[in-house]
Amino acid sequence: MDLRVRALETVLTQKGYIDPAALDVLIDTYQTKIGPRNGARVVARAWADPVFHDWLMKDATAAIASLGFTGRQGEHMVAVANTDDRHHMVVCTLCSCYPWPVLGLPPTWYKSAPYRSRAVKDPRGVLAEFGVQLPESTAIRVWDSTAEVRYLVIPQRPAGTEGWSEEQLAELVTRDSMIGTGLARAPEAA
Ligand code: FE
Repeated sequence: MDLRVRALETVLTQKGYIDPAALDVLIDTYQTKIGPRNGARVVARAWADPVFHDWLMKDATAAIASLGFTGRQGEHMVAVANTDDRHHMVVCTLCSCYPWPVLGLPPTWYKSAPYRSRAVKDPRGVLAEFGVQLPESTAIRVWDSTAEVRYLVIPQRPAGTEGWSEEQLAELVTRDSMIGTGLARAPEAA
């Protein structure tokens, strides 16, 4: 795959379709400047502010943009909130669609064929491999990302965090908890 990508980049550069320096800036931006901490701030705000939570559920794109997180692969966002009754999990069965402005670049496993196929066929089994055991009474809903729509999971707020600041709450929000393959960290972990 690395060789194929390099060959493609070489051809596109030679034909003058892309500027390698511009590519480097884009990659650096998403690797070092934009990452899951953005999403964690969205989740922390939603936990702390019921009005923002409502807005996020109704118009995630606008609510997220109000915190400054917009751009490529985040033009149409949908937020889905976990409850005791329902756990949400995100996949792109076709390729690797992912909400870049809030989560950065996708992890390797998100792009892998086993995750993409098994997340749909056996979500509970996949979750168990991520170390997440949910009660049978919790339904699992799997969302298939598309080129148009990207999903952000709002994990459940951990118990024992009453009165915490948004900054403190954000520390409990992991990347995987916003994909739905993990849960927010316990307060003791912070
Ligand atoms: Fe995709």
